[in-house]
Amino acid sequence: MTTETRKFEAEVAQVLHLVTHSLYSHKEIFLRELISNASDACDKLRFESIAQPELLAGDGELHIDVSWDPQARTVTVRDNGVGMNVDEVVANIGTIASSGTRRFLDAMSAEQKTDARLIGQFGVGFYSAFVVADRVTVLTRRAGAPAGEGVKWESDGKGEYSLERVELAERGTAVILHLKADEDEFLQPWTLKSLITRYSDHVAFPIRLPVEQDGKPGEEWETVNAASALWTKPKSEISDEDYQSFYKSLGHDFNDALAWAHNRVEGSQSFTTLLYIPAQPPFELMMGGRDERKGLKLYIKRVFIMDAAEELLPNYLRFVRGVVDADDLPLNVSREILQQNRQLERIKSACVKRVLDLLEKMARDEPEKFATFYKAFGNTLKEGIAEDHANRERIAKLLRFASTKGEGAAQAVSLDDYILRMAPGQDIIWYITADSHAAAIGSPQLEAFKAKGIEVLLMSDRIDEWMLGSLNEYAGKKLQNVAKGELPLDEADKQRQQEASAAAAPLLDKLKSLLGERVKDVRVSARLTDSPSCLALSDYEMAPHLARLLREAGH
Ligand code: ADP
Ligand code: MG
Repeated sequence: MTTETRKFEAEVAQVLHLVTHSLYSHKEIFLRELISNASDACDKLRFESIAQPELLAGDGELHIDVSWDPQARTVTVRDNGVGMNVDEVVANIGTIASSGTRRFLDAMSAEQKTDARLIGQFGVGFYSAFVVADRVTVLTRRAGAPAGEGVKWESDGKGEYSLERVELAERGTAVILHLKADEDEFLQPWTLKSLITRYSDHVAFPIRLPVEQDGKPGEEWETVNAASALWTKPKSEISDEDYQSFYKSLGHDFNDALAWAHNRVEGSQSFTTLLYIPAQPPFELMMGGRDERKGLKLYIKRVFIMDAAEELLPNYLRFVRGVVDADDLPLNVSREILQQNRQLERIKSACVKRVLDLLEKMARDEPEKFATFYKAFGNTLKEGIAEDHANRERIAKLLRFASTKGEGAAQAVSLDDYILRMAPGQDIIWYITADSHAAAIGSPQLEAFKAKGIEVLLMSDRIDEWMLGSLNEYAGKKLQNVAKGELPLDEADKQRQQEASAAAAPLLDKLKSLLGERVKDVRVSARLTDSPSCLALSDYEMAPHLARLLREAGH
């Protein structure tokens, strides 16, 4: 193969343009992204070498080297990980391989705005090199391939790249950045060092820098990151900052995590979990992206095995990020085996328990933090009511609603708060569902409840009606829609209603004949105090706005 020039896919050019422009104020993350790719490459090789030890070829100490060249004005990130063959280079960095990148692109063009926080989440990491470089060279050789099958890829990030077969003595990948004119700060070793400790301290492989000698990189290398698997340390030795920086290296989130739980289970089956709750929904979750769930990594004895969020957590906890490290699973486990593994079932329920424990504690001790959580993920959590029967009561305890006795539209009233405030003799938790908070609070259905001082929960999230289908009871109390069934009447109320019905009989007959088929019945009601009339439902009818939603969806 001689040098060959190819065009990027149209979308790559677009991504490149977006990335280089949106990352302007966070230039330095290119280093984090390239190191994270190098670390992934080392993870992959370590995993492949379990079945094929010969891939390591006597070079088993996986590491990442960062170096600079003041004369050539380059920064190089090199790893001795898995490397790429020519097809992989073309597939991975010449086209848009991941569906994440495509969604990123859609989101970016739909929103007409660019948000640097999103870059990492969508896996467009490699292209961030072009934020600081006007030319990028990749030299790579797949582990196990002969020296003659090295590949040189080069591009100025403007629409084309070149490919060339080269001789490479070592396996792995070197990414060489030819810095733009005003990016000299990245030629300072202390800049590189501080960026590595800030963003990549907890990468599990040693990241090395040459020791400086006479203003130039010397022969000797020093490891500059902690290079330990944080979760294997005792809690007492880990500071909050350590936890937060590990979170950032995991989740590609620039922001601090809201909370975390770090636990070790010893016994017939031993494992460690370190689970985080983000402070904001990741973009993919907001986009309703359910197909590709990332963020929970499965390790077996400190060897990264795979992203296993789906195997380790139920869907309604898909916002959780972190690490599970199991001691007793076979290293050559496949995704198919994982899905039926009994031990994994146990780890999964332990994860659920840890997260619910963490949320309960937060709700009890740090209500403001919990409110932040609930705003971001409350609606996701609600899916658990239908999805996780075993934990329904615990999840219901965490739910918060707007209420006729709450403050404005804030979702802050728990079912326990409600029960504590119930009137003597009241045994039903009343709620109303509507399209919006305004529609709920303005409903004439509430008049009688207001007059009697009975609290009503106001539900207006899309998911509420569906969730309520699985939440008939809480703490032994029935939940009931105010639009359904009979009102709680005392004897005097009943007496008055009977008298009013008798007096209004001619009017009722007239209305019934006028409305005909359109209604089942016309009755005198105790529901209303100010409005002349309202629509009511019998016990087994659908709420009107749900019926409307279904109609709109064509049912
Ligand atoms: P992501 O890391 O989210 O997949 P990137 O844009 O950072 O997205 O990288 C794209 C792909 O290029 C990676 O998935 C990987 O297959 C390949 N790649 C990048 N850097 C390396 C490397 N140092 N070694 C091997 N493969 C790499
Ligand atoms: Mg990457």
